Amino acid sequence: MSRPANNMTTKILIWMFFGMVLGSLINAFARDVALVQDYLVEGLFHVAGALFIDALKMLVVPLVTFSLIYGVCGIGSVSALGRVGVRAFLLFILTTALAITLAIGVAVVVGPGEGFEMRNGEQSGFVPPPAPPLSQVIIDLVPTNPVAAYANGNMLQIIFFTILFAICVLMIGERGRSIAQGAERMNEVMMELVNLVMHVAPYGVFALMAKTFSQQGLGMIMPMISYFGVVAVVLLLHVTGTLMLLLRLLGRVSPLMFLKKMRTAQIFAFSTSSSNATIPVTLRTVEKRLGVDNSTAAFVVPFGATINMDGTAIMQGVATVFIANVYGIELGVTGYVTVIGMAVLASIGTAGVPGVGLIMLAMVFNQVGLPVEGIALIMGVDRLLDMMRTAVNVTGDAVVTTIVARAEDNIRLEIFEDPAAGHVEEVHLPRETPRQRRVADG
Ligand code: ASP
Repeated sequence: MSRPANNMTTKILIWMFFGMVLGSLINAFARDVALVQDYLVEGLFHVAGALFIDALKMLVVPLVTFSLIYGVCGIGSVSALGRVGVRAFLLFILTTALAITLAIGVAVVVGPGEGFEMRNGEQSGFVPPPAPPLSQVIIDLVPTNPVAAYANGNMLQIIFFTILFAICVLMIGERGRSIAQGAERMNEVMMELVNLVMHVAPYGVFALMAKTFSQQGLGMIMPMISYFGVVAVVLLLHVTGTLMLLLRLLGRVSPLMFLKKMRTAQIFAFSTSSSNATIPVTLRTVEKRLGVDNSTAAFVVPFGATINMDGTAIMQGVATVFIANVYGIELGVTGYVTVIGMAVLASIGTAGVPGVGLIMLAMVFNQVGLPVEGIALIMGVDRLLDMMRTAVNVTGDAVVTTIVARAEDNIRLEIFEDPAAGHVEEVHLPRETPRQRRVADG
């Protein structure tokens, strides 16, 4: 029973590795070969990778919608929903604050960027896109037109409207039951679609890795090795230390089992660099593999993908210390406390999409008076760090979901503890429709 699924995760990992190796080889030896660039990198890899990401994104809005309606109806009361929301929110803030504090602590001790020689031309070149002020983020929570919110995939607005809608389904009582049941079925169908997309994942991941690594040679890490290394080490410390400690203490479940089951979602996050695009896989993982009930997962996972970014906060903490060192600016304790507060706020206001961390960083720098153009220095390695921190962001979302589910007694531990639970099964397309079958049966 567990064979095919183990094969699936292993298969994705193997193809990911192949993609990285091939991409790095192209970067080293065929960067100027037009044929390779045009037909492979910008042709095959680009198209296959983009198709894969699009297929994942295609699932996000309908899956979140049906899953949320079903979930809220499953919670059954507004007060329970409020409790889940408040718990999740506080845990998201706590994990992000711990993440950036750890990052600043380690960075201050290691001191990346001290003695860094700024080369000509590196001082400029980064023009940060405008970041929305916090007041606007709050106002924008309420969609003026839900259809537009759905069309634009605005996750916070979709969550807001769908929860209100589902609460009203609950409020009309018996007559709302068929809507809740309909949402349950639709959710099941969407989960099946997630399964389908997961079957092409190895090739999609391969294409994404091959393209990224053929464009981003590992050589560009070298001048930035101190910054890159500190971010990577703190990301690892946060996932294996802080988050697992919280999971053990507050969630009272095995961190090892958790990490084992999270591998697929982490690979998806790593290769897509987007917590949002990974929502379908994260949802599937926490529900089918970790045993969290839909009523908690449906709400906490998309909420987390939008407002919880531990990995991004870590990058911001290290980047702040790095740039302060490079420019010889003394931030002091007040400066760092401001950075922590700003990073937490910024993560709430920005969605989990590729590269958004740099925009958040610009907001933080503005606040503490660090030169925003310093961001140009770290841009070269940001693509690779984006992949790593997105995997951490998604892990943080799942940790909080598991802790909240445990507190709500909304997790089936026999599923959590079963290593084979929720593996991706082989897809069997039906040969005949149910109607044809009924006719044949007689
Ligand atoms: N790519 C990250 C995410 O989607 C955000 C970022 O750090 O840029 O979670």
